[in-house]
Amino acid sequence: MNPVIVTFLGSRGPYPGSDDMPSVLISYGGKNILLDVSEGTQHRLLEVGKSVASINTILITHMHGDHVLGLIPLLQSRSLAGITTPTLVVGPAGIGTYLIKSFEHLYFYPEYKLVVNEVSNDKTCEGREDLIEPLKELTRDSGGAVSIVSTDCCKTIVEGPFKIRAFWVKHSIPTLAYRVDVSGAISICYVSDTATSDDVANVCSNVKVLIHDSTFGSDMSDKAREYAHSTATQASETALKCGAEMLILYHVSPRYKNTETLLNEARKIFKNTYVAEKYMKLYLIPNK
Ligand SMILES: [Zn+2]
Ligand SMILES: [Zn+2]
Repeated sequence: MNPVIVTFLGSRGPYPGSDDMPSVLISYGGKNILLDVSEGTQHRLLEVGKSVASINTILITHMHGDHVLGLIPLLQSRSLAGITTPTLVVGPAGIGTYLIKSFEHLYFYPEYKLVVNEVSNDKTCEGREDLIEPLKELTRDSGGAVSIVSTDCCKTIVEGPFKIRAFWVKHSIPTLAYRVDVSGAISICYVSDTATSDDVANVCSNVKVLIHDSTFGSDMSDKAREYAHSTATQASETALKCGAEMLILYHVSPRYKNTETLLNEARKIFKNTYVAEKYMKLYLIPNK
């Protein structure tokens, strides 16, 4: 199996305006999944040698600006570049209306078929079957049209070699996290912007890589509670509960110029921890 490549197009949060805000690319077999699209993401995609044409699947966690303000420019660039392949956007309920209203006011309409899959607001995965739902809408005729479909939380969406499971976490606004399984061999959990959430341990069990909110160190646990984010300690406790192989501290506040203290804090609990950096790449291969 070729490696699954995880590229951090941005690693910090949450100040819009910096050039290092959340976005992660998962690549395998010529296919790509983009998780969150902060402003400037399309420029950073070019920096790592990927065109907007190569992005057909986009997963958005929530509607805070540092996760979504690059989405419309990216969708518009695909049209301007004459790309006609269908595109899937998965996100919280309301994202479809946001896109359609924005297109209306920008006098822009995608030239390709855009399927927006809104995840319904059921709050927990507990006791739910892992149902699989192929997205038939994507394979219908690809004339330019936007369709909004609804998916239950925790249903698995199949897109090429990827199985995608969306689930709710605990942030200040409705926020999703995603588990992506690649060819049944490599699993990655993307959990940006959340306080400690039990569903992460449930859905991300035995995951190879857990990318987890670590906006603060435990020196600022009161702020983490106030803004519904996690500390490095909480992220590492969750990694331990998940039985993850590796933890990546993500969405670290720009106030931490030196991330060493966060790393040391986390490694006391979960040794195989690293801090995300812009343009960092992970090459993942299955265990023998
Ligand atoms: Zn954020
Ligand atoms: Zn947020």
